[in-house]
Amino acid sequence: MNYNIAVIPGDGIGPDIVEQAVKVMRKVGDKFGHTFTTKTVLAGGAAIDATGGCLPQETIDVCKASDAVLLGAVGGPKWDNLPGGERPERALLGIRKELGLFANIRPAVIFEELADASPLKAEILSGGLDIVVVRELTGGIYFGERGTKETDMGPAAYDVEMYSEGEVRRIAKVAFDMAMKRNKKVTSVDKANVLDSSRLWRRVVEEVAKDYPEVTLNHMYVDNAAMQLVRNPRQFDVIVTSNIFGDILSDEASQITGSIGMLPSASLAEGNFGMYEPIHGSAPDIAGQDKANPTATILSIGMMLRYTFGLGAEADAIDAAVKAVLAKGYRTPDLYTGEGTLVGTAEMGRLIAEEI
Ligand code: NAD
Repeated sequence: MNYNIAVIPGDGIGPDIVEQAVKVMRKVGDKFGHTFTTKTVLAGGAAIDATGGCLPQETIDVCKASDAVLLGAVGGPKWDNLPGGERPERALLGIRKELGLFANIRPAVIFEELADASPLKAEILSGGLDIVVVRELTGGIYFGERGTKETDMGPAAYDVEMYSEGEVRRIAKVAFDMAMKRNKKVTSVDKANVLDSSRLWRRVVEEVAKDYPEVTLNHMYVDNAAMQLVRNPRQFDVIVTSNIFGDILSDEASQITGSIGMLPSASLAEGNFGMYEPIHGSAPDIAGQDKANPTATILSIGMMLRYTFGLGAEADAIDAAVKAVLAKGYRTPDLYTGEGTLVGTAEMGRLIAEEI
């Protein structure tokens, strides 16, 4: 089978890590008899330098014509002084909107071999950690009505949190479908004790839950969820929440793992289309130095195979290859604690590809 993938290396370490991820993807193709046809396009700072804009129309067109998108990362000090609307990171909002990517999926997994990297005590994480945060990505306060007005207390600014039943229903379905493939538990996070939008959210999630009798649903207020994530993160399986709560909780969940270079993510549209990227940024401090950990990007390929192409065995092969390389003691500088073998970006990619 042939799959078409738009590849956006981006800036900083983006090109370094994407090269390794594509290498691993090709190895999966060889082993399992698939062809992955890639088309490389520009976004972010690289696009600003080449075309004057952070998201050229050609990039949007190529992404829309592809089966999935792989993104490295965008941004860097070179473009930091540009006005907000012209900065490289603006490309991310543009892509999400153009491609209708309404569901952000972020697993927070602790690899046994890297358990020491977590800032949490070993007893809290005993038995490992494997949770997924499903964040609504195109609605809520980040996209709501906004403005300024005069008040008794001086000029004021406002941003509106609004969710429609349809928006909540489709993100809830993503979460329940995911839970069905995992441990069949969904925690819906809201602030229904205060916000009307959260009360609507809760009602719709409960309606969707009726179609998934095997899945256990519980609700949690966002302040409690932030606390429970560090107190007892193993109680969670799938967390589903709004754009702003998900922004914060998914970062918290990834910090628990302690390894920013290990965490992939997916942003999904209706149907199977998705964009896949590591959760970290472009790490300009280590760009081009063969120091970046390519594993998050390689695991993002795994998510692409699983969620967009439905290739579970192939995705499992990537996860297993990463585990095997870690078990053999290979570590990129971000993971290195003085034990095992220190390797660079390219060597880490080669080792993981070899294990496939
Ligand atoms: P960052 O994630 O790029 O880096 C934070 C720290 O983690 C740095 O010390 C970096 O060296 C390290 N790090 C990140 N990824 C690593 C990897 N794969 N291997 C080893 N170490 C790694 O965050 P930042 O420094 O806040 O941002 C840098 C630039 O990236 C900014 O321009 C920011 O706007 C942009 N950014 C882009 C995205 C994206 O493209 N999705 C996300 C976040 C930040």
